[in-house]
Amino acid sequence: MNSHSNVQSKQSVYIDLRSDTVTLPSPAMRAAIADAVLGDDVYGEDPTVNQLEALAAELVGKEAALLVVSGTMGNLTALLTHCQRGQRVIVGDESHIYNYEAGGAAALGGLVYHPLPTRPDGALEPGALQIALARSDDAHFAPPGVVCLENTHNRCGGVVLTPDYMAQVHAQAQQASLPLHLDGARIFNAAVALDVDVRELTQHVDTVQFCLSKGLAAPVGSIVAGSRAFVQRARRIRKMLGGGMRQAGIIAAAGIVALNEMVERLAEDHANARQLAEGLAVLPGIVLDPARVQSDIVIFELVEHDRDQFLAALREHGVLMGRMGGRRIRAVTHYGISAADVQTAVQVAKQVLAG
Ligand SMILES: *Cc1c(COP(=O)(O)O)cnc(C)c1O
Repeated sequence: MNSHSNVQSKQSVYIDLRSDTVTLPSPAMRAAIADAVLGDDVYGEDPTVNQLEALAAELVGKEAALLVVSGTMGNLTALLTHCQRGQRVIVGDESHIYNYEAGGAAALGGLVYHPLPTRPDGALEPGALQIALARSDDAHFAPPGVVCLENTHNRCGGVVLTPDYMAQVHAQAQQASLPLHLDGARIFNAAVALDVDVRELTQHVDTVQFCLSKGLAAPVGSIVAGSRAFVQRARRIRKMLGGGMRQAGIIAAAGIVALNEMVERLAEDHANARQLAEGLAVLPGIVLDPARVQSDIVIFELVEHDRDQFLAALREHGVLMGRMGGRRIRAVTHYGISAADVQTAVQVAKQVLAG
């Protein structure tokens, strides 16, 4: 297994491709956690949290940023900050916000999800967005409160939205006087895949959430960023949701290392994902188009084999992959996965399919 991430391989005997959330903190993160200068962040007195929030805001080109517990809390905090009860969250029907966040905006915020059809490239169906934004003064309709995009797009297989597309949606949202929120859980993967500064993407949204705990390998935490006024209001919502943390510098210390040291190496994960896709695509019994693999996520289907039996057999041979919606299987490369691990995983898949 991976020699440079020795901490990781000592703790797992598996080649774990289920998610980039399984990454364990790097040795530099553990050292930073041990040495972190701490205070009570609810009083605004944790210097390490303040340093992380300043760094994060600068990196994504926003006035301010807020450390939250998770991506889910980050998106929920943003939606509740943007919207009043009864307002509509315009969101893709394949988005993480709509599918995987336990309906939090409705359950906890009284907001109405308005899911729009999603194209395979992760974009919202343009005509549907136009219609969703129209006639917002008609008393029949829940008034729109926010538009959301996701980049990279998880359920579409880690595909990358371009700056041009994001600018176009931003213009449409602005025309309707609505804020645009980005679920950028993997926005640094998008920037690395496009080989652009992340600000080329985040400049086209009013607010962004991104995860420190996925490919960037921090143990816990996400960031919400936006204008100073937005973040000030979001701070109250975070408290309401139970996300006011005390000596959170323990978490932020790893987040700082994540942002300083772990962004560029995402290119390795993307190269490994491409290798994995090409290796799997030629195996009989697998349906996979490697050209669709743009970042760290590989999604495929089986022609004949039963998915659960296939996943169980992989596990017996030391390889873990995950289920996606429908009949699909997802494999994600990350800090704990080397090029050699990818070759092993392909060999194991080949063996399992050959029965
Ligand atoms: C993982 C993920 C989230 C949520 O992050 P958690 O930290 O798991 O709550 C949000 N959006 C996308 C696209 C994700 O992949």
